[in-house]
Amino acid sequence: MKPRKNWNWLLMGSAFILAAGVVVGLGGKLRLDFFHVSDKESAAMESPASVPAAPGASNEAVKLPAREAVQFRMTDLNHGWIEYSDGTMVTDDGGATWRNTGQSVPAAAALSPDGQSKQWSVSELIELQNSGGTLPSPKQATIGSTLVPVKQSQFLTKLIGWALPASQPGAHAEADESHHPLLVTIDGGLTWQDVQDQAVQQAFAAETEQLKKLREEAERFPDKETARQVLGSNVSAWRLFPESASRGDVVLVRHNGPGTVKWLGKSYTLEPFGAGYYTYLPITMQTKPGAYPIGDQTLTIKAKEFETQYLKVTEQLESMRQDTQRINADQKKIDAARSKSAETFLFSSDFIQPIEGILTTPYGYTRYVNDKFDSAHMAVDLAADEGTPVKATNDGIVALADNLYLTGNSVYIDHGMGLFSQYAHMSELRVKTGDKVKRGDIIGLVGTTGFSTGPHLHFTFWAHNVQANPNLFFNSNPFHWVKGESASKP
Ligand SMILES: [Zn+2]
Repeated sequence: MKPRKNWNWLLMGSAFILAAGVVVGLGGKLRLDFFHVSDKESAAMESPASVPAAPGASNEAVKLPAREAVQFRMTDLNHGWIEYSDGTMVTDDGGATWRNTGQSVPAAAALSPDGQSKQWSVSELIELQNSGGTLPSPKQATIGSTLVPVKQSQFLTKLIGWALPASQPGAHAEADESHHPLLVTIDGGLTWQDVQDQAVQQAFAAETEQLKKLREEAERFPDKETARQVLGSNVSAWRLFPESASRGDVVLVRHNGPGTVKWLGKSYTLEPFGAGYYTYLPITMQTKPGAYPIGDQTLTIKAKEFETQYLKVTEQLESMRQDTQRINADQKKIDAARSKSAETFLFSSDFIQPIEGILTTPYGYTRYVNDKFDSAHMAVDLAADEGTPVKATNDGIVALADNLYLTGNSVYIDHGMGLFSQYAHMSELRVKTGDKVKRGDIIGLVGTTGFSTGPHLHFTFWAHNVQANPNLFFNSNPFHWVKGESASKP
């Protein structure tokens, strides 16, 4: 503590006002300290284990205005510390309130408890948001019409920053029991202020919301390094997950801004998610191998051949497929169910295979039924005992659960952003249209209803109404394709 001559009046005056402020203004916690429990008890009650309070912390508060701040650091939007010549104050609420600690300067871990976990801490997200960009480091700050030299400054985002003035008169301290010398800006350093008014609180809340969105997106990626490569602000505006694919696949596109992607004569709208904008691009079976520009990236389509399957069915079963009226009526239901999809990703983890089963027809088989060309089989057929429980491949909303003529008891699950999974020929349905399902929920039982030669599950994905290879999804998800790991599976 270094009292100065011209501060003497302040020392006496503010001590009185501060004491009054403590009684009137402070929350129940501190009032308890003063009137109901001893300092020792209150220290045990109030202090987080990692930051032990100094004995007699409440007495120190009275001396505050005369202290001189040596340095400060904000570890994220909520947490920070100011080191004084005689102690340290910390904040947990973005500088709205401060409290004394006995430590000289708190360890970072004590201030951001989630810093060590696999989840993204706020400080890591701020770093991710600013990676590649330079933040301001002003040597002076404007408060109203006064220009103040700055001893130290720190910007957390491009707009939000803190500064410690070179001289700290403390004249504004009287009415504020949590007085601190820091200045804050929410407009990138154009203007600074020493009070936490509503505008500051709103700016912090808006930034917190942005970081929450960024976290939601960042946590989809397989690891932090991959997320940094995709989300860091100095990376490409466009990303393809993956960059190389084959016909029958699906590619997830990320862009930094809104817009549309032109692909194979169609236009796909990028939907906001996290800090970016996404859409799926279906690679139809007719897509020719080659290099296709997508934004500033190139999507490589590799050549891929599928095998041929010859299937014998009874005439009775084959004649089933001639009831075009019934088939068309079903198609209308299916089209309606797949026409609207949640405008966000409804899943947050890997997709699972809905049953173990034996793979009887792989994806993409060109099928001849009774020696006549039929179609390419854009699904996997997994044979299993009748009654085997069928699991939802991932979280989503049941878009359709119905008995359909060709596919029997069928379920379509919406996974958001135009992606659906389809389950057919089940003996029994265990969900109804509109149900929310979690990955692994039992949605039905294996059967042989509809156009089917024996108990099996016909399973596939649809991306924007084009069938997509299920093998890309199993034990993976589109955010993991950014590494290209799923691109060459059969
Ligand atoms: Zn099938």
